Amino acid sequence: SAAIHIRNLNKWYGSFQALNDISLNVQAGERMVICGPSGSGKSTLIRCMNGLEQAESGSISIGGTEMSADGPSLARIRKTTGMVFQQFNLYPHLSILENCVLAPMWVHKIPRKQAEETAFRFLERVNIAAQASKYPHQLSGGQQQRAAIARTLCVGPKIILFDEPTSALDPEMITEVLDVMIDLASEQITMVCVTHEMGFARRVADRVVFMDSGEIVEIATPDTFFDQP
Ligand code: ADP
Ligand code: ADP
Repeated sequence: SAAIHIRNLNKWYGSFQALNDISLNVQAGERMVICGPSGSGKSTLIRCMNGLEQAESGSISIGGTEMSADGPSLARIRKTTGMVFQQFNLYPHLSILENCVLAPMWVHKIPRKQAEETAFRFLERVNIAAQASKYPHQLSGGQQQRAAIARTLCVGPKIILFDEPTSALDPEMITEVLDVMIDLASEQITMVCVTHEMGFARRVADRVVFMDSGEIVEIATPDTFFDQP
């Protein structure tokens, strides 16, 4: 069954059409990579999947629930769908631990002590438990992005959307973030990743979606995709 079901999605910014009749199913547990030139609509598409952008027409359903822009609908999406951004989006005035406990406390109403235990488990998993009491600016970019991934995992999402998670990183830090993503890919979490990291796509993607000018021009398995002339 489809984890994300998108039909005939159209999105304009003023008179500019950013998404042109996009239809796409992401299967439960699928690892999908979205690639394509800058400005082709990748970020817009993935932001629509998280309710951060609203399309003018078409539909998206997440886990069988039709998405709309109202509060209850968005609250439901936040429980099942996590997002990792290019610029980490950690709260600068909160420690790494605090960044990780707030969302689960809000979204799931779980007690602080339990949220902290969960946070430590995931911070350990991405290998930055030692930085838990530090603030984001005290961490390297790679550490901040791993913290952002841990924060997303703390909410217990079924789906994680990645919007160019390594594009803001120095080259030597890209690997440490990709390694965490490769580790996640071994689980049953549905992953949709906008990325230019084609080595990652080749290694973990079930399917690669190629976008251009707001349209999906191709969907293929990595083998087919990368073997083309
Ligand atoms: P990509 O992620 O593939 O680089 P985006 O989805 O970010 O592409 O952007 C697609 C197009 O929409 C680009 O031409 C971009 O300039 C335009 N765009 C994106 N966001 C906005 C916005 N908030 N207002 C106006 N135009 C936008
Ligand atoms: P579905 O389960 O509806 O087939 P997919 O996610 O497999 O969903 O495909 C979504 C849409 O993308 C399809 O409706 C089709 O129009 C388009 N599509 C699928 N494969 C390709 C391809 N190789 N090249 C271009 N478009 C494709």
